[in-house]
Amino acid sequence: MSGGRGLVTLSADAVVVGAGIAGLATAYYLARRGLSVVVFEKDYVGSGSSTRNAGRYRVHFGNRENTEFAIRAIRKLESLSGELGWNGIFERQGYLWLIRRKEVLRRFEELNEKLWKPLGVPVRILTIDEVRDRFPYINTRGIIGAVFGPQDGAFHHDYVIMGYYTKALDLGVTVLEYSEVRNVGVESGRVVSVSSSNAFVRTRDVIFAAGAWTGELMKSLLGIDLPIKPVRREIGITEPIKPFINTYIIDTETNFYIGQTMRGEVLGSVELEGVEGFLPYGNTLNWLTAWARETVRLIPSLRGIRVMRVWSGYYEMTPDSSHVMGRLDSWPEGVYVLSGFSGHGFMFAPYAAELLVKYVVDGVVDPLMRPFLPHRFITGNLIKEMLVI
Ligand SMILES: Cc1cc2nc3c(=O)[nH]c(=O)nc-3n(C[C@H](O)[C@H](O)[C@H](O)COP(=O)(O)OP(=O)(O)OC[C@H]3O[C@@H](n4cnc5c(N)ncnc54)[C@H](O)[C@@H]3O)c2cc1C
Repeated sequence: MSGGRGLVTLSADAVVVGAGIAGLATAYYLARRGLSVVVFEKDYVGSGSSTRNAGRYRVHFGNRENTEFAIRAIRKLESLSGELGWNGIFERQGYLWLIRRKEVLRRFEELNEKLWKPLGVPVRILTIDEVRDRFPYINTRGIIGAVFGPQDGAFHHDYVIMGYYTKALDLGVTVLEYSEVRNVGVESGRVVSVSSSNAFVRTRDVIFAAGAWTGELMKSLLGIDLPIKPVRREIGITEPIKPFINTYIIDTETNFYIGQTMRGEVLGSVELEGVEGFLPYGNTLNWLTAWARETVRLIPSLRGIRVMRVWSGYYEMTPDSSHVMGRLDSWPEGVYVLSGFSGHGFMFAPYAAELLVKYVVDGVVDPLMRPFLPHRFITGNLIKEMLVI
C-alpha cells in the first residue's frame, strides 16, 4: 500500500463496488479462489438495503428460472451459519399467502401443479376452515383460502453480513468504507483501475454490486445502460410481545406482509405504490397509518401494540423484476455486474455471488445463471417475475 496526502494506492486482482450482501459475498468467494480483492463502499458496510430488509426467504417464485435459482439459493443460504461461523438465525416458519379472489387462487393452483410440484417444492392450498384452524388470530373476513409454503423462512441479515465481512477480512480482503467510486480507468478496451477520492486501485476486473445505485453508477462511469432503478420501500417493527404469529403472512390483495421475530417483535409493511428514484430514507405518515390500519384489520389482537422503529430502503428494480449478473461483450473487458434483485436479493445474493465468481475466474456460465445475463435486456428475452412482495 502506498500514497500521499491521504490517497491510498493499491493493486488487486479484482475490485468490488458495494459492501452489501452481493458485494461482500462476491469478495469472499473471489478471495477463496486466491484472488486479492479490494471492496469500495461509499458509506459503511451493510448501509444499503442489506440491513434494511425483512429478512425472509422463499423458494416460491412465478417462473421456472427464478424458482430453480431460488431452490439452490435457499439451500446455500441455509448452509451459511456453518460456512461463515456466524449464526444466521435461520428459521423455516413458512409463507402464508392469503387469497381474496378466485382467479388469484386459480393462478396459485396452476403454479403449484405446473411449476412447484414438478420441482419438488409443493405448497399446500388451504381452505378457509383450515386457515381459521391453523392461524386462529387472523381476521378471515373477505378471505377465501390460502397458500402455505412450508419450505420458506426467515433469517437475520446482520449476522450474515457480519459473517461475510469478517470471513473476507480473514482472507485478506481490503474493505474501504466511506470511499465512493468516482472513476473506472479503461485503456485499450480493458479496465486498468478503479478510484475514489481517497483511494486508487490498479486492477483488471471490477464487479458492480452497488444495489440500487448500480444502474446510475455504470451509466455515469462507463456509459453502460443497465435498467436498474431504485424504488423506496418502507418497513417497521413493534415492541416485542409473546410470539404467536407462527408464519410469514402476505395479503395478496393489499401487498401487506407481517411476521414475528424470534424476539417477539412484529415486523411488516404495506406496499403502497412505489415511486422510482432516490427519495430520501425516511417514512411517510401515509405509509405509517396504512400499515397500522392493515395490521389491526388482519390481526385485531395487535390493536394498541407500540411501534418501536420504522425505516426505509431501496428495492433495485429491473424491468422484469429479476436480477442481472455477468457481462456483455460490448462492455470494457473486466467489467461485471451483480445486481437488480428487485426486492428478493438477500436470499439470492450468496448463491448468485458464488456463480458469478465461477464465471469471473473460470469463464464458466452456469446453466442456472444463463437466463440472468444482461443480454436479455437487448434480446427482449425477459424473465417476468410476478411474485414480488
Ligand atoms: C424494505 C425491504 C424489505 C426487503 N425484504 C427482503 C426479504 O425479506 N428478503 C430478501 O431476500 N430481500 C429483501 N429485500 C431486498 C434486499 O434487501 C436487497 O435485494 C439486497 O440487500 C441487495 O443487496 P446488494 O448488496 O445488491 O445491495 P445493497 O445492500 O444496497 O448494497 C449496495 C452497496 O453499494 C454501495 N454503493 C453504492 N454506490 C457506490 C459507489 N459509487 N461506491 C462505493 N459503494 C457504493 C451502497 O452504499 C451500498 O452499501 C428487501 C429490501 C427492502 C428495502
